[in-house]
Amino acid sequence: MILLTPNALHRIVVKVGTSTLTHQTGLLNLRRIELLVRVLSDIKNSGIDVILVTSGAIGVGMSKLGMTSRPNDLSHKQAAAAVGQCELMHIYDKFFLDYGQVVGQILITRDDIDRESRHEKIIDTFKALLEVGAIPVVNENDSVGVEEILFGDNDSLSAEVATVCDADLLVLLTDIDGLYDADPHKNPNAKIIPVVHEVTDELKECAGGAGTSRGTGGMITKLQAAETALKANIPMVIANGRDPEILYKIVAGQSVGTLFTTK
Ligand code: GLU
Repeated sequence: MILLTPNALHRIVVKVGTSTLTHQTGLLNLRRIELLVRVLSDIKNSGIDVILVTSGAIGVGMSKLGMTSRPNDLSHKQAAAAVGQCELMHIYDKFFLDYGQVVGQILITRDDIDRESRHEKIIDTFKALLEVGAIPVVNENDSVGVEEILFGDNDSLSAEVATVCDADLLVLLTDIDGLYDADPHKNPNAKIIPVVHEVTDELKECAGGAGTSRGTGGMITKLQAAETALKANIPMVIANGRDPEILYKIVAGQSVGTLFTTK
């Protein structure tokens, strides 16, 4: 079944969660990241603008600093993010370069999106980066933000980025196959919902809490992202990032995971 019109795709935003980017140890899953980078580079080579929203800074920083559990206080979370973000960008820069791509790091907070003067600047920066052929690699500016100006999760951030960049598709790669009609960990009969046209309260109830100890998102934040994307008329897909080649299927319009679309 073809659900998206592949020829209509000019610009996609791909968000990858911490659980997809790291091993259980919290350290980077290099094989998966390299494959992700190769696929994204290939999609870019096919003529589609690519923007990557990456999590993982706090998780990777925690592991590098030997923190065994997520710190409760903001300053230690910020210290972990500062350390982890360097490691993340180092790896992206290196792998993307191997595939002939240049990356540009953009770290933003909710404040940058909400304030009109900053909002315009961000649009201009994304535009310029894409014009010069670079791949923007985005994360929340965790190491300097304070609670009130942070999104707190990259699902919501990625939907705002898709809106700001006028993308035609947002993909959230995560550690689950899509949105289920019941909790798949508790109910073996739970089934993937292939298409959603509206994010209802009932759906939010199905989604529950979840999330891993290394990242912050769960299904709820993904549904909030879907609401933002649908408001901007941008289709969104939730799919399993275990094999990043799944992106080829999504870009080709095949039915994978859960598609949120107004049509
Ligand atoms: N910005 C956070 C990080 O890079 C991740 C937020 C999330 O897990 O959605 O660690």
